[in-house]
Amino acid sequence: LLQLSAPLFLLGMMYREVKQALTNMERLFGLLDERQDVQDAPDARPLVATRPSVRFEAVRFGYDPRRQILHDVDFEIPGGGTVAVVGHSGSGKSTLARLLYRFYDVDGGRILIDGQDIRQLTQASLRGAIAIVPQDTVLFNDSIFYNIRYGRPEASREEVEAAARAAHIHKFIQSLPDGYDTQVGERGLKLSGGEKQRVAIARAILKNPSILIFDEATSALDSQSERAIQAELERIQRGRTTLVIAHRLSTVMNADQVLVMDGGRVVERGSHGDLLARDGRYAQMWQLQQREAEREG
Ligand code: ADP
Ligand code: MG
Repeated sequence: LLQLSAPLFLLGMMYREVKQALTNMERLFGLLDERQDVQDAPDARPLVATRPSVRFEAVRFGYDPRRQILHDVDFEIPGGGTVAVVGHSGSGKSTLARLLYRFYDVDGGRILIDGQDIRQLTQASLRGAIAIVPQDTVLFNDSIFYNIRYGRPEASREEVEAAARAAHIHKFIQSLPDGYDTQVGERGLKLSGGEKQRVAIARAILKNPSILIFDEATSALDSQSERAIQAELERIQRGRTTLVIAHRLSTVMNADQVLVMDGGRVVERGSHGDLLARDGRYAQMWQLQQREAEREG
C-alpha cells in the first residue's frame, strides 16, 4: 500500500503545485476575470536572446473592440537600452506592458523581439524572459520567502536573500519574528505599498530577465526610499532591455528615449534634453514637477 500511495501522493502534490502556480500567475497580474484567448502558435519557437531589441510597429489595440485604446504606436528599444514612457493616467502606458508580456494580442501592427513577432514565440519562453515590476503587487497567502522566490521557483535560499538585500527589504524581513517564514497577504501580515513594491523588485532581480518592465515601480515609495532604490534599479537595468513607465520624471532622465503618451498615441519623443528644448508637453510636465518638488522642499 505504501509503495502505491507514495507516487500517487507525489502526483497529487505536483498537480496542486502546478495548479497553484497557474492561479498565482493569473492573480499576479489581476487577470482572473479577463479574457484569456492568447495561445501558442502550432509552430511557436522559444525566444533565445540575451540583449534583445523590442519593437512596436503600428500597434493598435482595444480591450473592447468598440473602444480602441492604442493608435498606431511605434517605438524601438535597442538591445540593452532603455525607453521611458510618461503621460497622464489612462493614456495607455500599462497597456504597452501588458501587450509586450502578451496578456493580449494586438489588433493591428506587431510587436517584435529581436525581429521575431511575439505571436510566433512560445509564451513560456516569452514570459520567462520578461520581468514586470507592476504598479500594484499582489502577494500570495504564503510566506514572504515563497513570495520572493516566486520570481524563480528553483532559486536557492541564498539567492532569495541576495535579491531581498538588493531590493532593500532583507533587514525588514529579518526583523520580523518569523523572518522569511512570515505569512503575508490577505490572511497574514499586511505589507505597506512600499514593502510590497520591494518584494516585487526582489522577484524581478531573482528572475534575472533579459527584458525588464517597471510600471511605476517606485510610485508607492516616499522620495527618500525611492532614491535609495533607484540606484538599485539602475544597476539591475544594466545590460537589459528596459521599458520604464514612470510617474516621476526624475526617473526617466537617463533613458535613451522618452515617449510622451496621450490618448493612446505617442505625441512626443526624444531624449530628456531634446524634449526640454522642444518646450512642448514634456517640458510643461517637467516644470510642473519641479515646482511641486520645490514646494515639498
Ligand atoms: P495608464 O497606465 O497610462 O494609466 P492603461 O494602459 O492602464 O493607462 O489604460 C488605458 C485605457 O485602457 C484606460 O482608458 C483604461 O480605462 C483602459 N483599460 C485598462 N485596462 C482595461 C481592461 N482590463 N479592460 C478595459 N479597459 C481597460
Ligand atoms: Mg498604468
